[in-house]
Amino acid sequence: MKNFEFTNCPLCDCEQSGLYLKTPDRFDLGIGDFYNLVQCSDCKHIYLNPRPVESQSGKYYENAAYSPHISTQAKLSITDKIYVKLRIFNNRNKRTMIEKFATERNRILDIGCGTGEFLREMQSADWQVHGVERDPDAAAFGRDQNNLSITTGTLDDLPTDFETVNVITMWHVMEHIYSPQDEIKKISRVLSADGLLVLAVPNCASFDAKFYKQNWIAYDTPRHVNHFHLKSLQKFLELHNFQLVKKSNLFLDSLFNVVMSEQLIETRYGTSVVGRLFHFLRAAIIGFVSIMAGLFSPLLEQSRGATLLTIWRKT
Ligand SMILES: [Zn+2]
Repeated sequence: MKNFEFTNCPLCDCEQSGLYLKTPDRFDLGIGDFYNLVQCSDCKHIYLNPRPVESQSGKYYENAAYSPHISTQAKLSITDKIYVKLRIFNNRNKRTMIEKFATERNRILDIGCGTGEFLREMQSADWQVHGVERDPDAAAFGRDQNNLSITTGTLDDLPTDFETVNVITMWHVMEHIYSPQDEIKKISRVLSADGLLVLAVPNCASFDAKFYKQNWIAYDTPRHVNHFHLKSLQKFLELHNFQLVKKSNLFLDSLFNVVMSEQLIETRYGTSVVGRLFHFLRAAIIGFVSIMAGLFSPLLEQSRGATLLTIWRKT
């Protein structure tokens, strides 16, 4: 275990926690349910413990198709083409949602921007955009091919004279961050007074998470070190002076989660033609229920959609 470290709760520093679930690495299934997800005794946040030390975490991304290199391929398959169309649709929806809450079209920073497809959408509507991206290839592609202003690295690598922004977005990034407490302090410094923080994270209280348990694709251990639900996220952000202004869902993520979770189950336990049909039908049913759970979440105190999409205002 020398490349692993034990940690207190990444959100509230509490030392006490209890085992929540044991999970596999979908790229190294031979090790079985090797990883421990624990739940904080205080804020109820769920996190990976022990976790790979951060300096060693890069190797767990080697097999993962994390870099959005779909943008760099000359010839796209039909699935890729559908993905690209859905991405355009998704980015347009994200922009429309943000513009409902942002008082003016001004400056936006996307943390973990990949090749910058979302920023392109914002730029097309006259926003001044900037991105931060750890993957040097994705960042270079965004700069060279999409003509965007992107810093390779993290918030620490922003130019010293970087001006504050009115909106910060993090689409499926916070679950990878080792120290959300440090990150939120840095975000506060870069965000203007009354600025908006838009966060999208997998929702571990979602219907699909509860159904698939250790085979829920979005646990994605050990790459995801944090697993948020609305209550833990809200407690954490309110402590750091952010007020919730909107909670929503990305309904297409429900389909992604169920299809990928069924695929993971097939890979782990094997399948037959009949088994395939069963997994396909189950994916359709669970996908439908998951989307419904997300749609009706606004009526519930707890959010049940596959993705927790929240907007916060700095107070
Ligand atoms: Zn905690």
